[in-house]
Amino acid sequence: MSDLNLKALYQEIILDHNRNPRNFKKMDDASCSVDGYNPLCGDHYTIFLKLDHDIIREISFQGSGCAISKASASVMSTVLKGKTRAEAEEWFEKFHHLVRGESNSGGSMDELGKLAAFAGVSEFPARVKCAILPWHTMKNALEEKKETVSTE
Ligand code: ZN
Repeated sequence: MSDLNLKALYQEIILDHNRNPRNFKKMDDASCSVDGYNPLCGDHYTIFLKLDHDIIREISFQGSGCAISKASASVMSTVLKGKTRAEAEEWFEKFHHLVRGESNSGGSMDELGKLAAFAGVSEFPARVKCAILPWHTMKNALEEKKETVSTE
């Protein structure tokens, strides 16, 4: 696939997840829920996790914000469902490297799957916080830190 087609595909993934976010619902029986806020952009989400020992059985989110933040939360929810705590932390690291443009340490694009759609975010420093917000919020939920996550 050419770089141009790849860019179009990535853009399509982000638009699709922004328009039809997956797992976009409140979870009444969550093990943990944490709020995340990005004051620079106004992104504000709650991430809900249902943990069964070390496994993320369910993950959902609610809130509002820009297309990047909403698509990031949506793709994250599809990637992390069924993963262990340790795997979720590995994915967090990979995503962090990806959006900061440090992709050598983040594994191959193939391995990243739909998360690779966010590689272009590294060119827009103000957008990095939008993309990473749901992930930071998820990580605090995993660690059962209840205070609101802020990107500031
Ligand atoms: Zn944003």
